[in-house]
Amino acid sequence: MKEFFERQISFSLFKIVLTIAITIAVFSYGVIKYYSLNKNLTHTKEQFETTSQNLQSDIKKLETHLASTTTENIFLNDFLTVLKTRNTDYKNEIEDINLTVSKLKKLTSTDPELLQKYSKIYFLNENYIPEELSLIDTSFLFRKEKPEQIHSKVKPFLEMLMLAARADGIDISVVSGYRSFGTQSTLKSQYSVLYGTNGANRFSADQGYSEHQLGTTVDFTTKKNGVMFVGFDKSPAYSWLNENAHRFGFTLSYPASNKYYIFEPWHWRFVGVEFATKLHDENKHFNEQAERDINAYLIKLFD
Ligand SMILES: [Zn+2]
Repeated sequence: MKEFFERQISFSLFKIVLTIAITIAVFSYGVIKYYSLNKNLTHTKEQFETTSQNLQSDIKKLETHLASTTTENIFLNDFLTVLKTRNTDYKNEIEDINLTVSKLKKLTSTDPELLQKYSKIYFLNENYIPEELSLIDTSFLFRKEKPEQIHSKVKPFLEMLMLAARADGIDISVVSGYRSFGTQSTLKSQYSVLYGTNGANRFSADQGYSEHQLGTTVDFTTKKNGVMFVGFDKSPAYSWLNENAHRFGFTLSYPASNKYYIFEPWHWRFVGVEFATKLHDENKHFNEQAERDINAYLIKLFD
């Protein structure tokens, strides 16, 4: 019996010791594991902090770079604007130069004689011949059998005038256009034979001489008034010309009751639409204008 109890006690002791040993072992394992995990955690935390710092530093660098790039971009944009403006300026300058050149070309290609004032004192050179002459359409001529010429650049204006007048029911024809120096001399001697020197001088053979030699001037008449223009100033054709000729660039060279010349209602000179219109609207006459004022219209002569 005693033996049994002793065995029981020693067995119980053994169980206790075993339990304590297991508990110590488990506890030790737990402690070791805790320290190990704690160490790992500390390391990871440190790594995280380092990475975070690096990232923040990178972000700062990028921000600085972005700021400098933006400044550079603004600068480049400004520079581009300056270049664009300069380019536009150059373009405008070139356009201005081109315009001036084309104006000069136009001016130098327009015969200055075409707007010159002529008188009994100042004649056109006897060798002067217009740059180009064209035949006036026979349908517009008073004498169909006698060809008449006009300055080629004036021809379309004369044709428009004739068509407009006839469209308004006006009887009007061209008696003469261009006259060379030779023709003019012959004409004058014919007049002299018919009317004597004094009588002949009263005609356009003297005063309109140079203007006909230019090729820009025509004498109009009607069936009723004939080649001698008798009573032309009372004709509907003359009234129509007074109201409308300026629209086609023509002006009356020798108006009634002027100080210098005898009245020639049939004799109309081309001076360009703008100038003829100005003279018409202001009720002024070509030969009364200052030559320097007249010359301002040379560039617009055939506009
Ligand atoms: Zn004439």
